Amino acid sequence: MGTSIAENLKEVDKRITEACIRSGRRREDVKLIAVSKTKPVSMIEEAMAEGILDFGENKPQELRDKFDVLPKDLHWHMIGNLQRNKVKYVVGRAQLIHSVGSVELAQAIDKEAQKKGVKMPCLIEVNMAGEASKGGIAPDEAEAFVRRVSQFENLQIKGFMTIAPFVEEAESNRVYFRALRNLAVDIASKNIDNIEVNELSMGMTGDFEVAVEEGATMVRVGTGIFGERNYSL
Ligand SMILES: *Cc1c(COP(=O)(O)O)cnc(C)c1O
Repeated sequence: MGTSIAENLKEVDKRITEACIRSGRRREDVKLIAVSKTKPVSMIEEAMAEGILDFGENKPQELRDKFDVLPKDLHWHMIGNLQRNKVKYVVGRAQLIHSVGSVELAQAIDKEAQKKGVKMPCLIEVNMAGEASKGGIAPDEAEAFVRRVSQFENLQIKGFMTIAPFVEEAESNRVYFRALRNLAVDIASKNIDNIEVNELSMGMTGDFEVAVEEGATMVRVGTGIFGERNYSL
């Protein structure tokens, strides 16, 4: 890692570009989301100075607080576990909720979006490795789940998200990224009403290059940009 956010961003961008070249993709088809959870507004402003507009948060109130003090042209991504009673902080602020993994949550988002008169873009979270510690639906339930949530009129389903296991070797996660891509292609082919399958949110600091090679349209990078997080503060 470099010694500044600007240097880190340059490095991450270079690695995304190289992964695009290796896999015959266009750099503009991969969005870098800077995951700013636990990090202060001053660090977000440093990233903004480098042209970053997309930020990811995993706590609803933190997203709300940062949204409220920063310029309104930023795009906020809710990437973490979302409880139904906290949906109100996110709808109307986030540009995209990446973590829809239950019908109850989808319903709560739908209701809040209707109340605020907005349509809420969402991704469906899929638990590709079947890890008990993580949210998301099982891959073999995905189609039924998509059909069910397609009925919520105030949700706009845009695609899928996965959080791959924490591994030493990024290559070990290639199977999960590839499988999510295949799942997305399969579901797209069903032409389900009110569903788009344009976005694949996958890849983090440890494995974003492999995710790009496997078709990610959004990568979520925190540590690689802002440094280690300190949860003991
Ligand atoms: C924290 C987090 C990230 C970023 O993780 P890093 O390893 O720091 O890049 C990405 N996605 C989700 C869902 C997260 O919670």
